[in-house]
Amino acid sequence: MTHIVFCDLDGTVTGEESFVRVLKTFSPALSGVLIPRMISRTMSLREGVRAILESIESRHYPEMLASVRNTPLRAGFREFVDFLGERGIPIVIVTAGVEALARTILGGFATRVYGLYGLDLDTGSAYLKVRSGWESETELVSKPAVIRHVLEKTGGGVAIAIGDSVTDFEMALACPVVFARDRLPGYLLEEGKSFFPFGDFFDVMRILKKSVLA
Ligand SMILES: [Mg+2]
Repeated sequence: MTHIVFCDLDGTVTGEESFVRVLKTFSPALSGVLIPRMISRTMSLREGVRAILESIESRHYPEMLASVRNTPLRAGFREFVDFLGERGIPIVIVTAGVEALARTILGGFATRVYGLYGLDLDTGSAYLKVRSGWESETELVSKPAVIRHVLEKTGGGVAIAIGDSVTDFEMALACPVVFARDRLPGYLLEEGKSFFPFGDFFDVMRILKKSVLA
């Protein structure tokens, strides 16, 4: 395989920050304090996301899943999945959020992607407990660790990252080709890492055809 796409979910496949919305809905006070600290990178995602999720009572879990049903997807995503399928390019969704929420949001697309990686929630006690097979020193879901795992499993290929925010920063640094929108370009400019800006998945397809797959 020549290329493989690693794509963020919230704010990238979805038009809005669906995971942030869930955190703010079910843990408003703590989210109000910790989310700005994670965005300014003064608190690690590992620490902040865990603290917020584990402040939520497990009995709210079904409501959390229900709250993301019918989340609108960004323009061109359906066409993008077809586009990649026609070319035999796998797409892996990597979310810094909860895998089950991502699966709900993706609906029928969940079976069309090569892989879906995120964190798991244990709902067996009074409060949610975070479980992640991909934890690093700074992240609950280390996207570079997922990328390494998938590239090993598939025998490699040119890794293409698509993302929008702080949770995609390390993933972007780990990939030779990067598509960035919203906050991510700012972080990458600071780091001197080059990227393609994009608005929707029609832009991504156009740029891929012209500059990456050509
Ligand atoms: Mg995102």
